[in-house]
Amino acid sequence: MEKREELYRGKAKSVYKTDDADRLILLFRNDTSAFDGKRIEQLDRKGMVNNKFNAFIMQKLEAAGIPTQFDKLLADNEVLVKKLDMIPVECVVRNYAAGSLVKRLGVEEGLKLNPYTFELFLKDDAKGDPFINESHVVAFGWGTAEQLAKMKELSLKVNDVLSKLFDDVGLLLVDFKLEFGVFSDGSIVLGDEFSPDGCRLWDKDTKKKMDKDRFRQGLGDVIEAYEEVAHRLGVPL
Ligand code: ADP
Ligand code: UDP
Repeated sequence: MEKREELYRGKAKSVYKTDDADRLILLFRNDTSAFDGKRIEQLDRKGMVNNKFNAFIMQKLEAAGIPTQFDKLLADNEVLVKKLDMIPVECVVRNYAAGSLVKRLGVEEGLKLNPYTFELFLKDDAKGDPFINESHVVAFGWGTAEQLAKMKELSLKVNDVLSKLFDDVGLLLVDFKLEFGVFSDGSIVLGDEFSPDGCRLWDKDTKKKMDKDRFRQGLGDVIEAYEEVAHRLGVPL
């Protein structure tokens, strides 16, 4: 397998072609962004930690029957993945109120949501990733009704698997964002990444934030918190 030219440079990862038309390389950089890319900083070790964290989680999900992009870890900062035609929609599952839900509805941070909620956002930084609903996805052709149903089913399955995984190591999975794409065989596959950059994790006892909110809110020790989560889960760093 040979690394070829850069296809796309995102805010946190760079995407490379390979000599296999069905495979890409994701390179996790240390760049850390917030507020739709308006604030960007370099955090030492972040690329390596998120790459290994993501590989660990994707393999857990795959073992639970969720189709993921993961193929194999290539280096500290690089992973080989299935090449997907990404659906430009972010799927957000919430178990407790935080972030934009708190701002939008004025509810208290930490409120237990019963049942969990499922939300959709259009992946479009220039428009500020606007909140959309299921009919928009189909009406604007971002995905079919069948693809959407699959994305929702898989998101909720991810929630079941990961809520338990984190609970077992004393962490609350508050919310998370997933991105899906279509593989060459037409199937819906989980893409992008699962790391503390795209979810909220709180210590069950102290409610300490162990995710990207440490960066967004200037709480400090961002990567130290990611490493502690990785350590609790047994992710080899
Ligand atoms: P952003 O585009 O939000 O700045 P990143 O820096 O994480 O995000 O860039 C990674 C890009 O690669 C994203 O646009 C994401 O949708 C895309 N991507 C992630 N996984 C895959 C995949 N398996 N196949 C194709 N594209 C992918
Ligand atoms: N999220 C993300 N990328 C985005 C927007 C949100 O990974 O572009 C994640 C975020 O880290 C959180 C969840 O999705 O775990 C819900 O985010 P929310 O809607 O509360 O938005 P925020 O206020 O965090 O931008």
